[in-house]
Amino acid sequence: MIRFNSIREWKSYCFNTHRKYLNNVYFTKWIKEKIIYIFNHSNLRNENIKQVKRGIEKAIALIGLHFKLKCPNYKFYNLSLIVENGNIIGDKMLKMVTSTRKRNNNCYASIFVVDKPIKSLDAVLKHGEALTYVSEGITLFTFDPLKKSSLKFLRDRAMHETFHLLGLNVHHEETKVQGYKQLVPCNMEYNAPSSHLCRKCKDALKSFWQGIEYATKKQFIKS
Ligand SMILES: [Zn+2]
Ligand SMILES: [Zn+2]
Repeated sequence: MIRFNSIREWKSYCFNTHRKYLNNVYFTKWIKEKIIYIFNHSNLRNENIKQVKRGIEKAIALIGLHFKLKCPNYKFYNLSLIVENGNIIGDKMLKMVTSTRKRNNNCYASIFVVDKPIKSLDAVLKHGEALTYVSEGITLFTFDPLKKSSLKFLRDRAMHETFHLLGLNVHHEETKVQGYKQLVPCNMEYNAPSSHLCRKCKDALKSFWQGIEYATKKQFIKS
């Protein structure tokens, strides 16, 4: 648990967290493109993908960012190349995406919806879990198409993970800031129990992007 004595201290901490990201060549590129692609590489039905898309859109709108969402209706990558023992290998996925970007000379943020477990380091992520590489602008969601997920579950999970992608790297319960009521439920609690984003987490994201605007002299937040 990280403690902050005032809202001001919290906002200033978040404002300054961009530094480590802006040193990363991928990060500066994907934020400049201002486009996020959703690649559906799962058997999830269209109505389910629509909820994922809605969650992502809602996250972008809540912070007021200039990012646009694109959702191609074809399978762009050949994921069978990076599946081992039934799991998608996170590291290989990362390499696949970054080398494709290099070839195509673009660097859009990419959100993948897959229906296999994802192996990352020693952990295997299963149904409803996700993995985000903020610097590279890549998120992997895994949903089990055989398990019934409520539309709200898909939407709230997508929203939560998009907030990670957009720079919020702490969960709601990991910080205590004097001045905010520790209001729960908040979408940024570990299990994303709600579509509501509390003021503390919203201020964190806004301050993060204000920091990026300040450092890059470019506009990201809608005025
Ligand atoms: Zn999380
Ligand atoms: Zn919160």
